[in-house]
Amino acid sequence: MTIRKCEFKNDWMVMMVDESDLSYPTFKNLFEHMGLAFADLENKFIVLDGKEIKNQNLSKDHISAIEAHEIGHFISDHVGVINKSLERLEKEADWAGHQILLKYKKTKAAKLLAERFKDKYEAEITEYDVSGTERYKIQNFLNEVKNI
Ligand SMILES: [Zn+2]
Repeated sequence: MTIRKCEFKNDWMVMMVDESDLSYPTFKNLFEHMGLAFADLENKFIVLDGKEIKNQNLSKDHISAIEAHEIGHFISDHVGVINKSLERLEKEADWAGHQILLKYKKTKAAKLLAERFKDKYEAEITEYDVSGTERYKIQNFLNEVKNI
């Protein structure tokens, strides 16, 4: 298992759980329900499925895209442990994550997220009809990010 700070929010931790970890079977159950990653928004951590990330040969940009999406949930005030069931929340987190990646100039990761959005919802992420409140929350967060 590797633990590090989240690249977009430094009071968040990112854990990558590998197959060799004793706790992997416990997490595996959660990954089966939630996909490659999930976030605990109250305790501020993201757990990544290291085995699947390796199997699918995902790049650092993919991981950045996942992280930005999860932080997107947090900034959008989605509560609890997020799962895939609510499409509106997922779209909102994608949109927020995309904004975060653009702000951090993570162009490749932003592109990956936009492509995934298009595949999944047959729509452009930039045309997503985000609410005014959502836009305001993200703007506030981005304003605090130092210009890089
Ligand atoms: Zn999500």
